[in-house]
Amino acid sequence: MPKIELHVHLEGAIGPATLLQLARRRRIALPADTEAGLREWYKFEDFEHFVDIYVTCSECLRDPEDFQLALREFAREQARQNIRYSEVHFTIATHVRQGANGGEVGDAIAESLVDIERELGVRVRLIPDIVRNLEPEWADVTLEWALEHRDRGVVALGMAGIESWPANPFREHFAVAKAEGLHHVAHAGEQRGPGSIREVLEIADPERLGHGIRVVEDRELMARLAERGLPFEVCPTSNVALNNVATFAEHPIGELLDAGVRLSINSDDPAMFSTSLSLEYARVGDTLDLEAGALAGLSMAALDHAFLEREERRRLAAEFQREMVELGEEIYGGSFEVQEPQVTCPG
Ligand SMILES: [Zn+2]
Repeated sequence: MPKIELHVHLEGAIGPATLLQLARRRRIALPADTEAGLREWYKFEDFEHFVDIYVTCSECLRDPEDFQLALREFAREQARQNIRYSEVHFTIATHVRQGANGGEVGDAIAESLVDIERELGVRVRLIPDIVRNLEPEWADVTLEWALEHRDRGVVALGMAGIESWPANPFREHFAVAKAEGLHHVAHAGEQRGPGSIREVLEIADPERLGHGIRVVEDRELMARLAERGLPFEVCPTSNVALNNVATFAEHPIGELLDAGVRLSINSDDPAMFSTSLSLEYARVGDTLDLEAGALAGLSMAALDHAFLEREERRRLAAEFQREMVELGEEIYGGSFEVQEPQVTCPG
């Protein structure tokens, strides 16, 4: 099925084979020096282990060619899954902090994105993110980099990091992004509850909410955001792996859909959670017992929430619709309709 991905981190999408190549180039020692050994190491254990892998992947990105390699491998995987357009979070500040040259990296990325689109037929755009638990001067670096590269692959400013750290130091950064006409998104309601969502809405005024799942703890807020039509980027496997939700069956995605919240399905850090966007759709479909038409509807919803120009969105929508109907007829026979996902939750 043709798809769109709106919440995935470049650093969290680096798989064992790519990490091995990057580390050899950077002469960084890894816990294993074969792909099979690294595959074992990647197996999810707990939050600390996840952070360990994530940090190692980040450390292996410094020279412009490192980013080009990571982006190309990322785009290959997106193309394999028929993900035609992706908005990818990445933490430029961490890399600059480790000695990367922001300007050179930006040039290399811009060049890569053009090549990727021409050679693989998928479009990739970037969301440099402010990390809440880094000093605010790194947020200055991030904002500046985002503005400098906005016609060369950057579509939005993001905010990620440890949610219990205050968002307030970044109020001005989001005000500037907004004034400059740069899209802006933020993670919230993942590690913390509705209070954190309210804080981020007030400070960053995001156009989409990363995760947002804990909004179900406040019915009034959930109804208000559904009414307003604020899109949520839901990443089910990530939530279960990081223990923000106990099991897949208990994931609130059904409740969100039931309440009329607009949402897309995403993979977050696919390499570290052994997932992919295709798997996320399959799991959501199984858990909520959704028909294929409803899953197709979720894919169309993601397209609707993407920061694409009107013309491009319209072109992709027509293409998706045609491909989905063809696919549906081929697999299920008869007429196939892309539906609005309808969910009725028990209780
Ligand atoms: Zn994320």
